[in-house]
Amino acid sequence: MTKAADFRKRFYPDVSAREWNDWRWQLKNRLTTAEQIGRLFELTEPERTALSMPDSFPTAITPYYASLLADSPLRKTMLPSPAEKTVGAGETPDPLGEEPCMVADGLVHRYPDRVLFLTTHYCSAYCRYCTRSRLVGRHAARAEPMKDRWEKAFAYIAAHPEVRDVLVSGGDPLTMADETLDYLLGRLRAIKHVEMIRIGSKVPAVLPMRITPALMKTIRKHHPVYFSLHFTHPDEMTPETAKACERIADAGVLSGSQTVLLKGVNDDAETLKKLMHELLKHRVRPYYLFQCDPIEGSMHFRVPVAKGIELINALRGHTSGYAVPTYAIDIPGGGGKIIVADQRCVGRDGAFLLLKNFENDIYRYPDPVE
Ligand code: SF4
Repeated sequence: MTKAADFRKRFYPDVSAREWNDWRWQLKNRLTTAEQIGRLFELTEPERTALSMPDSFPTAITPYYASLLADSPLRKTMLPSPAEKTVGAGETPDPLGEEPCMVADGLVHRYPDRVLFLTTHYCSAYCRYCTRSRLVGRHAARAEPMKDRWEKAFAYIAAHPEVRDVLVSGGDPLTMADETLDYLLGRLRAIKHVEMIRIGSKVPAVLPMRITPALMKTIRKHHPVYFSLHFTHPDEMTPETAKACERIADAGVLSGSQTVLLKGVNDDAETLKKLMHELLKHRVRPYYLFQCDPIEGSMHFRVPVAKGIELINALRGHTSGYAVPTYAIDIPGGGGKIIVADQRCVGRDGAFLLLKNFENDIYRYPDPVE
């Protein structure tokens, strides 16, 4: 029996396996209050206080994901903390400077050949460190297609032949109905110069039952579609999530995982390595390890960049290259992503470049001099 199935029997004895595995049931029964969550596991005093703080980023956890939290570091990613009310130096509501690059409602055009399309403000579970906490979770109690809002975005993309890649994000687009996604992807596919569509989602981790055969049949109609998935910790790689990842890969969708480096959650080399290995086992390629964005009240999540470099160095060369994500900072103020790594070219000796390997030994490479 899986951890989640055991949890269902214990805390939801009247709920059938069929209901539990229905993603709509999971959304309808999200946990949002101290009372609901406290029924499932004991809350600490700071968690209780934070759950009743006014004007906070909302809390929502699917019953499935709640089954993983009680004794996992993931708990910190879902339950609020009073530390969210402390705004540190340089923290802002829109750290990536997306608002000034908004060319239509929900459409961000920052890089030359690609756009970010924020299609919904709804997620099945809300991450406390969310970069878009200024937008998501505030407006609707349910997944709103916001179809009327999309028209201007479709028109903009159609009028800009340089846009060859559309990242469909939100919120979480996979919380929308199959028909709505079919419509959205169909409209984008009808624009001849859109070569690829990416969907950003955390659903395989927090709501794996959403990855149904019917959903994947819908996605397949619009290939090439890529998934940018959001995984945080190896505790997320349950049999349910493994099955979801298998379904995604079997539908011909290439998936990359974007992991946010979080203090006290995944900021040690063994945890990261285990997560990356688990992802590869289920055909998800580790893609980025992101430095946590400086949203307001995120200080308790952020790890010094020097430590991030140390962690990446503990992976590179010590495991398969496929298991090493690219460590990056999304630069505040709209500067885009910057890859962060320590210096491996350490000098020159005549015609030879001096390079430092993963064991910090120096090697000489005969480098052609122009
Ligand atoms: S799933 Fe993504 S958009 Fe939704 S709360 Fe988490 S980080 Fe934010």
